[in-house]
Amino acid sequence: MTSYLVGLIGSGIGPSLSPALHEREADHHGLRLVYRTLDLDQLGLGAGDVGELVRTARRLGYNGLNITHPGKQTVIPHLDGLSEDARALGAVNTVVFGADGRSCGHNTDWSGFTRSFTQGLEGASTRRVVQLGAGGAGAAVAHAMLTLGADRLTLVDSDPGRASALAADLTARFGADRACAAPREELAPLLARADGLVHATPMGMAHHPGLPFSAELLHPGLWIADVVYRPLDTELLRQGRAVGCRTLDGGGMAVHQAAHAFRLFTGCEPDPDRMLAHMATL
Ligand code: NAD
Repeated sequence: MTSYLVGLIGSGIGPSLSPALHEREADHHGLRLVYRTLDLDQLGLGAGDVGELVRTARRLGYNGLNITHPGKQTVIPHLDGLSEDARALGAVNTVVFGADGRSCGHNTDWSGFTRSFTQGLEGASTRRVVQLGAGGAGAAVAHAMLTLGADRLTLVDSDPGRASALAADLTARFGADRACAAPREELAPLLARADGLVHATPMGMAHHPGLPFSAELLHPGLWIADVVYRPLDTELLRQGRAVGCRTLDGGGMAVHQAAHAFRLFTGCEPDPDRMLAHMATL
């Protein structure tokens, strides 16, 4: 029987759901797959050590790795190749070691969000979309929204420099009129005119409870896609549903990014619905 050894490199990744999701899906395929967490904090390592850790994992016989904060950018110079998407995004969350030992970086965060959005908010208008949060997850979902054909994506972040930098990156790839940054003070008029809101800040997570802005700004003409997935049902989604918004939680993105990585690691076709049902039990 072919066996697979894969892992996750990141900081504070003890509670990650990835080991359970990958190992259970492998069980369903009759594959022997072990998924280890390689926690930088526990190892006394930092973002600058990710490259060495990747090389060590390859020497130890790992088939592949997922990479999360703070290594998604710092890993890039240490890889032998990149998928087109990972190169465009400048971020890698999955590394596959080929039979020849070469390492190739991929990004399944953006493809995971794309799949989740097209399934969960089918037919939603994407003429004017506002995105709150321009950090790591924000860069992936913004790439997804523009790839999905959003006409205009306006980025708002409490750190205005982050919103401007991501907007500059996106306009260089997708065209000058497709993305822009706006100050937080403009959120009210922006949301009033928007078809949809992508939420990509940590607000709503267990240790960042509450709403990222006043609930009065929500209206029934707005769909809301949240990237937060712990918990799945955030205060933003609850308040949105209460005023009649179509909503999408972050669980689909989390599961589809894992499913795409599973396919890259094993070559087997995962069942995302089964993985989604499993995640709901974790
Ligand atoms: P990050 O720290 O890289 O970025 C967060 C950004 O949000 C920062 O730029 C910050 O300035 C901004 N921000 C914070 N509070 C704000 C507010 N109230 N208004 C406006 N901007 C604000 O974090 P990240 O890695 O992008 O993660 C963000 C969230 O996405 C987390 O909850 C994380 O768990 C989630 N996430 C989900 C998935 C998934 O698969 N569903 C994948 C990755 C990350």
